[in-house]
Amino acid sequence: MVTRVIPVEPFDLVVFGGSGDLARRKILPGLYRRFCDGQITGDSQIIGAARAELSTEEYRAFVSASIDEFSGLSQDDPKLKSAFLEIIDYVPIDAKGEGGWNVLAEKTRQGVVSAFYFSVAPSLFGDIASRLKKFGLADDQARIVVEKPFGHDLKTAQDLNGVLATYFDESQIYRIDHYLGKETVQNLMAVRFGNMLFEPLWNSQYVDHIQITVAETVGVEGRGGYYDQSGAMRDMVQNHLMQLLCLIAMEPPAKFDPDAVRDEKLKVIRALDPVDWHHIVRGQYAAHNDEPGYREAVDDPKSKTESFVALKAHISNWRWAGTPFYLRTGKKMRAQASEIAVVFKDTPHSIFGPEAGNHRNVLAIRLQPNEGMTLDVTIKEPGPGGMRLLDVPLDMSFAEALGGTSVPDAYERLIMDVIRGNQTLFMRGDEVEAAWAWTDPIIDGWTARNDVPKPYDAGSSGPEDSLMLMHRDGRKWRDIRS
Ligand code: NAP
Repeated sequence: MVTRVIPVEPFDLVVFGGSGDLARRKILPGLYRRFCDGQITGDSQIIGAARAELSTEEYRAFVSASIDEFSGLSQDDPKLKSAFLEIIDYVPIDAKGEGGWNVLAEKTRQGVVSAFYFSVAPSLFGDIASRLKKFGLADDQARIVVEKPFGHDLKTAQDLNGVLATYFDESQIYRIDHYLGKETVQNLMAVRFGNMLFEPLWNSQYVDHIQITVAETVGVEGRGGYYDQSGAMRDMVQNHLMQLLCLIAMEPPAKFDPDAVRDEKLKVIRALDPVDWHHIVRGQYAAHNDEPGYREAVDDPKSKTESFVALKAHISNWRWAGTPFYLRTGKKMRAQASEIAVVFKDTPHSIFGPEAGNHRNVLAIRLQPNEGMTLDVTIKEPGPGGMRLLDVPLDMSFAEALGGTSVPDAYERLIMDVIRGNQTLFMRGDEVEAAWAWTDPIIDGWTARNDVPKPYDAGSSGPEDSLMLMHRDGRKWRDIRS
């Protein structure tokens, strides 16, 4: 299948933190892939900025190495690569200093879209925003891309929104949640609102419950310092899982336009009930075989930070009253797997009798690995011997269905949306604040009660209590499979 790639208008993109881990692994290789696809043309400009005193040639060598390592393009074309490196530049800048900004202002052009990607520690966001203004870079055409974490709680998110609003209009601020850039996540909206089949059933009358799982096999790795101050609730639930929940639960927006979509998502967050203490499980992975546990990884034998959360949430509105949403995320889990499962109710009456067993339709939307969807449909077990029933998946792997079409990575898709000026897949300031307003009381409650997370084995499905959370309701988690 051939997809049509429409080139974006020429742009200037400045990547603050252009020599950092995120730039190296995601941003720069992603931009290269867009260039190879013809979406970025040679009249655009990508400028790395960081404190290191690198020459343009040295930075190009860094970009070239990052492409080799992370672009995933097996047939590297040297001509294409050198054409891409031609549009790469570098300016040494300290976000907290005054040097380099005038050079940057000279290099960026009037009359083209200019985007500034803040791929640096959040403590520098305000410094960069204020200097962009001071040095005349924050004109009407400017856009800023802000990485997570967006605040540490409601108060800090409000403060950060306030600082950014001093220099930029909300329409210029792109708060990135890369989960929203995933092909499957956008397909969720296409499936819901582009088909007649699902939406009439998409409510508490037909849906028994919804499960959202984001399981990682990695531990905290080199991010222990940041993660121990954050934990799974702040690092995953407040943003990624919340965004997935919103897209599953929201009402159909009147149009696929940024504010219409974001208004509907905000209504979902505001309709979330506070979580009952009995409906939340907090875990921390323990040492297992030769692998160090969480506390060894963060070098704090008393750490009470959670690396796992499972909870049951309720949305108090007409569509969802009575249908629970089970959310689960953890590190060092059995497999790397993210999925949303919509579990439909039993048929009102089984004409096949009790021996046919219980069967349910499940629509599972896989985010990783192998992005795609399956719909479990009940059929007759083949062969003689009576009417026995079986659930089989109608399986659609995007890679297979779209036959060789390369699906852009979340980051590259989102960066192209920034250039096109489309904010639909970015979080609005009020959404982020509403999400913190829901998670803050949970986190504050843990602190007030001096809560200690339940240990779980690395490589497992999380603490026993998480299984019990479902079991008590007569339900069970789907297997975590890669
Ligand atoms: P990193 O590897 O530590 O890189 C930080 C970058 O910022 C470097 O290029 C560094 O270069 C530059 N920098 C530091 N201080 C600076 C200053 N005062 N002025 C200008 N530049 C400065 O961090 P990262 O992992 O790339 O993360 C960047 C941001 O993305 C963070 O907000 C992080 O939370 C977020 N994020 C990262 C990931 C990921 O996978 N890495 C995922 C999600 C979100 P110099 O030292 O030369 O200045």
